[in-house]
Amino acid sequence: MSPDYDVAIIGGGPAGSTMASYLARAGMSVVVFESETFPREHVGESLVPATTPVLAEIGALEKIDEANFPKKYGASWTSAESRDIPKMGYSGLSHGWTADIAFVERNQPGVDRDYTFHVDRGRFDAILLKHAQEQGATVFNGVRVRDVDFSDPELVRLTCRFGPRDVPFTARMVVDASGRQTLLGKQLKVKVNDPVFDQYAVHTWFEGLDREAFAGDSSQADHIFVHFLPIKDTWVWQIPITDTITSIGVVTQKKRFREGSGDREEFFWDFVSSRPELFDALKNSQRLRRFKVEGDYSYAMKQICGDRFILIGDAARFVDPIFSSGVSVALNSARIASQDIIAAHAAGSYDKDRFATYENKLRRAVKYWYEFISIYYRLNVLFTAFVQDHRYRVDVLKMLQGDVYDGEEPKALKAMKEVVAAVEANPDHLWHPYLGTLRAPTSAPGF
Ligand SMILES: Cc1cc2nc3c(=O)[nH]c(=O)nc-3n(C[C@H](O)[C@H](O)[C@H](O)COP(=O)(O)OP(=O)(O)OC[C@H]3O[C@@H](n4cnc5c(N)ncnc54)[C@H](O)[C@@H]3O)c2cc1C
Repeated sequence: MSPDYDVAIIGGGPAGSTMASYLARAGMSVVVFESETFPREHVGESLVPATTPVLAEIGALEKIDEANFPKKYGASWTSAESRDIPKMGYSGLSHGWTADIAFVERNQPGVDRDYTFHVDRGRFDAILLKHAQEQGATVFNGVRVRDVDFSDPELVRLTCRFGPRDVPFTARMVVDASGRQTLLGKQLKVKVNDPVFDQYAVHTWFEGLDREAFAGDSSQADHIFVHFLPIKDTWVWQIPITDTITSIGVVTQKKRFREGSGDREEFFWDFVSSRPELFDALKNSQRLRRFKVEGDYSYAMKQICGDRFILIGDAARFVDPIFSSGVSVALNSARIASQDIIAAHAAGSYDKDRFATYENKLRRAVKYWYEFISIYYRLNVLFTAFVQDHRYRVDVLKMLQGDVYDGEEPKALKAMKEVVAAVEANPDHLWHPYLGTLRAPTSAPGF
């Protein structure tokens, strides 16, 4: 029996639509099942430059350029801390804990510009999904995949919910791009919760926030801002959505939310009030959306590919959003996996070993992200110091650009790991009091 499609993709977010574009452009027959009707709201609004080459390669960059999303030229971090942080010989911490970095400082191979975008994910994801359709993919909106049957060695069978009915489809293989729903991860029982991160976020949009008030100079007003709160492992994101709309989210450990009343609005204002200037600015702005919560979002998968299946984007793994890497991982995992799928299709075999290149590359890149994020939480002052240190600044920027998919381990990461180990081992170390409570394992667990 000939299957309905070469490849069936579960989920039409950035990972699924990018995969669909790559495969359709290679002449394969592709179907995308998306459970929501687009446009729909989604968290994850600030991109890194590593998304640019992928958008260009699938032919979507022009459409993204034309959408007039705010340009993101860099990132800034602020803190209320006025304590005199011991600098360990690192110079340049002229604003206490404040740091900023601009993409123009480092040329990135394959990236033709010194900016990326902040995006309203409702619009961004809809553009990419429509683009996939224009490349030749079949797209079903409002259709949820319920499960995937792998019992036939020749094809996969998907059960899809069309309104009140279950409809069967067949394909030569399936790509799970279902995001944090992790359809296959759950079905195949390969999902493991992260042992370190148990973060929790409450977020919304505000109209009229004076972004320049937080910028060192007005050219930085459209940076992503990460405002550290004087509460361990807790920070606020500030992401421009339009000239006047700003996305604001509080990220903390889940246990801190549980310790409070459990009311998300109360939690938000309570935590933000620990930075009075931020609190006042937000109280003078108008909230546009209800408060939304994201929890339980840190996990790994014991397996990210197998006979006739591949997991990409958040369906493959998610750590923490601190460095805005999620959409980049979604796009780049689709890019790398699509190459293996196209080669598998040409060979007429969809066995697990066909996907080895994808598995190795993604595991390595995500390991770097994971270690970088772990160090960030473990010894935050170190991150700030490295950003300001001329020996490591460009290398830190390389990671912040999302440029981790090829090449060796970034040297700043190696040096950071050594410093963290030295500080942990020495209670008299000047930085010992600044160790966070999230303890970094020596490498990314489970994946
Ligand atoms: C608090 C927080 C803040 C973040 N901030 C950032 C940021 O600033 N920058 C950044 O790059 N990333 C950020 N991220 C991460 C980012 O949101 C994700 O990495 C990104 O959306 C992953 O894309 P994806 O396509 O894999 O999954 P998604 O974008 O989640 O898309 C998955 C799609 O699959 C659909 N789906 C699910 N199940 C089914 C099913 N059974 N059948 C059919 N369809 C299904 C869903 O409706 C959804 O549209 C953040 C994440 C969190 C939790």
